[in-house]
Amino acid sequence: MNYARPDIQAMTGYTPGEQPKGTKVIKLNTNENPYPASAKVAEAIGRAAQAGLQRYPDASASAFRLRAGEVLGVDPNWILCGNGSDDILTIATRTFVGENDAVRYATPSYVLYKTLAEIQGAVQDVVRYEADWTLGFEFAAPAERLRLAYLANPNSPSGTVLAPGEVAAIADALPCPLLVDEAYVDFADANCLDLVRSNERVMVSRTLSKSYALAGLRFGYVVAQPVLIEQMAKVKDSYNCDALSIAGATAAIDDQQWLAENVAKVRATRARLAAALGELGFAVTDSQANFVWAVHPTIAHEELYLALKEQGVLVRYMRYDHWGDGLRVSVGTDAQIDALLALLAPMVSRR
Ligand code: PMP
Repeated sequence: MNYARPDIQAMTGYTPGEQPKGTKVIKLNTNENPYPASAKVAEAIGRAAQAGLQRYPDASASAFRLRAGEVLGVDPNWILCGNGSDDILTIATRTFVGENDAVRYATPSYVLYKTLAEIQGAVQDVVRYEADWTLGFEFAAPAERLRLAYLANPNSPSGTVLAPGEVAAIADALPCPLLVDEAYVDFADANCLDLVRSNERVMVSRTLSKSYALAGLRFGYVVAQPVLIEQMAKVKDSYNCDALSIAGATAAIDDQQWLAENVAKVRATRARLAAALGELGFAVTDSQANFVWAVHPTIAHEELYLALKEQGVLVRYMRYDHWGDGLRVSVGTDAQIDALLALLAPMVSRR
């Protein structure tokens, strides 16, 4: 007997990227940071653990919001924290979208948007990216019962960005809140935080999983005007961020020097990786994130993915309906990228 709601039974569900255990695998498949986080994070977590965990944590993660508010130049009341930015996306969906309301997102993009819409029983209004990863005006067009739009910027898997001016135009035209998912924005040249100040329908979500090298900690946040934040605060789980992650995240955002150094390293390796894949014959999309999207004109991507996996290098093979497939390769350390390129070169030159 299957007791789940019929629409949940019919869902495929979101499958996260492979997470192999052990240290042998070179893991370039889920856009994690290859370097360990600032040492201050573990110190802060240790202190929080020492202080004891018998009490519930601060439900609104005030310590983080205060420090993040200073770093970002926004009032702490404009920030809501989550258990990773996936939690933020869930909270926003539950706050703004009811059953049979519509949500809009672009494709190919982050696959979780579809899952969240399905769980909510929402109608999906899906707009396809153009071949050059720009978005047509349909993305900004009004539609009946449209309650929320998600826009990953930088996008995944492409790593491409829409300029803040383009996002502003979309937000101004849309009749509903726009959630700009800036999971990868620290690796990019520009961000959309200023739009939050000028448009009360814009939300910007961020995560500590990527640029702060804390995917295992689970901490994300959203910045928006109080008119949106106050409603989302009613929907989130009471204690969605635990005391250890609040302490670690606060130390992480406090260490902006670590962030700047890390981002510089990742961007330098990204440029080298993109150039090298280009030399091997891949079309590599110009990326502003910590990964690149590589499409080979003749060789089957799935074969390459499997051959690399067999030799201990994990990249992400992605295939999208009506679009095509390719390999998404996260930026690792220079040594990891060298190992990948050494394996790939004979695979692609043999043809
Ligand atoms: N948005 C995008 C576009 C992502 O790729 C990811 C990572 N899977 C997330 C949000 C969520 O990251 P996290 O929950 O680790 O903050």
